[in-house]
Amino acid sequence: MDRSSIVLVLLTLTLSCASRDAGDPLQPGYNTFSKEQDIQIGKEYAAEIRKQVDVIDNPRLQEYISTIGMRLAGQPQADDYPYEFTLINEPSINAFALPGGPIFVHSGLVDAADNEAQLAGVLAHEISHIALRHGTSQASKSQMIQLPAVLAGAVLGRRGDMLGQMGQLGVGLGLNALITKYSRSAEKQADALGARIMAQAGYDPLQMAKFFEKLASEGGPRPPTFLATHPDPGNRTRLVQEEMATFPAAEYGYATGDFNRSKTVIAQLPPPNRPEQVEEVTTAAAAANSSPSAPSSAAFERFDARTFSIERPQGWETFGGQQAVTIAPREGLVQTRNGGVVIGYGAVISRYEPRYRSDLLNATWELVQQLQETNPNLQVTHAPQRRQIDGSPSMTVGLTGRSPYGGAERNVLLTVVRPDGLFYIVFVGPDRNFDQLEPAFQQMANSVRFR
Ligand code: ZN
Repeated sequence: MDRSSIVLVLLTLTLSCASRDAGDPLQPGYNTFSKEQDIQIGKEYAAEIRKQVDVIDNPRLQEYISTIGMRLAGQPQADDYPYEFTLINEPSINAFALPGGPIFVHSGLVDAADNEAQLAGVLAHEISHIALRHGTSQASKSQMIQLPAVLAGAVLGRRGDMLGQMGQLGVGLGLNALITKYSRSAEKQADALGARIMAQAGYDPLQMAKFFEKLASEGGPRPPTFLATHPDPGNRTRLVQEEMATFPAAEYGYATGDFNRSKTVIAQLPPPNRPEQVEEVTTAAAAANSSPSAPSSAAFERFDARTFSIERPQGWETFGGQQAVTIAPREGLVQTRNGGVVIGYGAVISRYEPRYRSDLLNATWELVQQLQETNPNLQVTHAPQRRQIDGSPSMTVGLTGRSPYGGAERNVLLTVVRPDGLFYIVFVGPDRNFDQLEPAFQQMANSVRFR
């Protein structure tokens, strides 16, 4: 059996033990991130989001959401993440959780709920996605080349439709990034764990299922955006009832008594004022006309990240957080038809934690397999070549794929084994222009310095 078959068999084994009976304990699944990284990623991403949405400036309303949220987050199944609940002025019906604790609730969701237990149900469901680490678990399995571009997309935004775009990124790109389209099995798990958390906090878990079923039945031409990221797994009421049958008998009458007042205040909010609207990224159509070219200036400047530094061509920008960055000119980011952002040309820098601690060649090979897993178009064109980066053994692999500009894309993957995993850069460019970009990519590669 060759190595790729072994990796596939192992992955299949990991994924196939999913069946679970009501009441069985729920555990986080496969994940290449650490809990600390979940918290770090969530914190960085939440800071970006707060700049771009209309956080409701009403302490009493914020406290109302936090009071319910913290009551739920205090239950043992929520685990000990630094949970944080933020109510934002957005009339669409949605709520979303970032890895490691931050939860954002749209005012429209509170407006759509019939009672506090339904609102608590959404919060318990989101808490469960965090506790079960669904975001980074799916990101672990997804396309690691595009993850940083997704972060870039979140930073750039699209005028007037930031939240819609973030919701669509997971859907449109067919990848599951941090704000993700959860799988149906993840939805079932979040319902099951959410029901338990609600019950322990004194809320009727059935209200969660009722609310989600109400949203699903509304459907129509504009279904609630919540369903775009939290797909309906079906039979939610029955699933919650089966879970509840395994709980100790309890009374579910808890409520703060502030629901109706809060709902009235929300109904009177002005239209959302989204504080920071940044310019639209190049559309795919426009980008196709302006063929990407080499950096106009030969000048480079050093960019310092936490664990490394690198030179980038002047005029190129850095997008993303500590975990993964995209270095590209703005016109190197391409907006897809469904509102996502992908990298057309530039460099993506990240870290991969090999599943099996191994040498440079094996770890690099494993990363290539992982990249191909969700991007079947990627083909290895050049066998691995050894080189040195900052005095450490390094490897490059040539890959081809499909360019968002149309036609073939060339990728050069560069890897270096570091104490915290495999450091990697993917240099990306359309095949027809790659030769022009290559000198800049070479200089970037040679300029990498580790701390
Ligand atoms: Zn969900």
